[in-house]
Amino acid sequence: MLSVDEALARTAALPVPRRVRWRGLGAALGAVLAEEVRADLPLPPFDNSAMDGYAVPDGLSAGGALPVSGRRAAGDAPGDALAPGTAIRIFTGAAVPPGATAVIAQEDATPADGGTVRFGVTPQAGQHIRRAGSDLAAGATALAAGTILHPGAIALAAACGRSRLRVADPPRIAILGTGDELVPPGRRPPPGSIRATNNPMLAAWVAASGGVPLDLGVAGDRRAALESAFARALDQRPDLILSTGGVSVGELDLVRAVLGGDALDFWKVRMKPGKPLAVGRVGGVPVFALPGNPASAAVSFTLFVRPWIRRALGDPSPHSPVIDVRLRSPVLRSPGRPELWRASVRLAADGVWHADPAASASSGSLVGLSQANALLLFGEGRGGAEAGDSVPALLLHAAPHGSPVPALRWGGRPSAGTSG
Ligand code: AMP
Ligand code: MG
Repeated sequence: MLSVDEALARTAALPVPRRVRWRGLGAALGAVLAEEVRADLPLPPFDNSAMDGYAVPDGLSAGGALPVSGRRAAGDAPGDALAPGTAIRIFTGAAVPPGATAVIAQEDATPADGGTVRFGVTPQAGQHIRRAGSDLAAGATALAAGTILHPGAIALAAACGRSRLRVADPPRIAILGTGDELVPPGRRPPPGSIRATNNPMLAAWVAASGGVPLDLGVAGDRRAALESAFARALDQRPDLILSTGGVSVGELDLVRAVLGGDALDFWKVRMKPGKPLAVGRVGGVPVFALPGNPASAAVSFTLFVRPWIRRALGDPSPHSPVIDVRLRSPVLRSPGRPELWRASVRLAADGVWHADPAASASSGSLVGLSQANALLLFGEGRGGAEAGDSVPALLLHAAPHGSPVPALRWGGRPSAGTSG
C-alpha cells in the first residue's frame, strides 16, 4: 500500500493537458493566465496630478503668491509648458505641464488679489505628482504566466491595453458513479436503494477547482455495464475520468478489473478515509477511481484530483493551503493510518483559527461533509487531540467563513502624537 506522500508523488507525475484559449476580460475572473502580459505603455502613461490643487514651479515658499495662468482637468490634452512665474489650476488625473515641479493641494491655497493664489506651504519637489512609468516601465512584465486572474490582475491587464487574454483551457473531467443501489437524486429511492450523491458533489468540486465536469450518470455493478459506461465516458473526449465506488475488495467491486491490471498505476493509499483509491488508464485517458463513500471520495478528490486539475490549468501552487487551527472540542482517534478529519474552521476575533471537528468520522456521513470546510491532519501513529490543541488543517474552500460583525483589526506600531 502506498503512503500518502508516495501517492502524491505518483499522481504529480501523471501527464496533464496544457491547452490555451482566449478569454475576454469580463470572463477571465479566476482563470489562470497562460502568457506573459507586458506593459505596452509606461504606467501611468504621463506625469499627472494626484490631487486637486495647483501645479507650481520651483522656488515657491510658504506665504508666496502666483498668478494663475491656466486650468488643466483630467482628460485635457497635455498642452503647453507652465508659463514662467505662474501656477495653473489642476485636477486629479490631469497631465502636469513641463515646468511644474510640484502640486499643492487646494486645501493649502487661498485666492488672493488680482487673480493670484497664495500658498500656505513650501512644496517638496515632485510632491503629489505621479510620474510616468512610476508604477511600471514600458515593456516591463506586468503579469507572469500562471497568475490567477483576480480583479486587480484584470485591472492591470486592461491598463496594458489587453481586452482579452490567453488563459488555460479548463480540463474536461468525466464523472461516473457506480453501484446497483443508486437512484438519481430526483427520485424517491425504493427500499435498499439510496440517492446518488457523488455525481453532483464531484461535478461541483470539479467546477470549483476550475475544470469542466461532464456528468455521465451511474453504472450498475456488472462488468459489461461498467465497460460500456467507461466507453461512453471516452466518447466525451475527456482529459480525465473520475469514477466513484466499486474499487474496494468486495466481489462486486469491478472497477479495477475494468481498468485492466496492466493499466493500473496503483491501488490503495495508507490513509483514512480514502484508502481504496485506484489510479489507472482507459483508452489512454487517466482515471482516478475514487472510493464510493461520499467523504472518502471528497477527501481523495481534494488530495489527489484537485492538484491534477490545477496543474492542468498551469497553477504554480496547485495544492490546498494548510494552516494551524485550535480545536474547540477533542478528537478521539486511535493511532494508525494518517487521518483527514472533517472540521468546520473559522477565523475568530482573536485572530486565531478555531476548529469544530465533525462529531463522526464515518465516511458515509453527509451532514459532517456538508458542514466541513477543512480537514484536520493526524499523522501516522498519532493519537487524537484535546480541546485547545493546535492541529494542522487543510482548507477545502478558498475563503472559509467571515465574521458576522465587522471585525477589522489594525496593525502597525503605536506612534506618538499623530493627527488627522
Ligand atoms: P463502494 O465503494 O462501491 O463499496 O461504496 C461504498 C459505500 O458508498 C456504499 O455504502 C455505497 O452505497 C456508497 N456509495 C457509492 N457510490 C455512491 C454515490 N454515488 N452516492 C452516495 N453513496 C454512494
Ligand atoms: Mg458499490
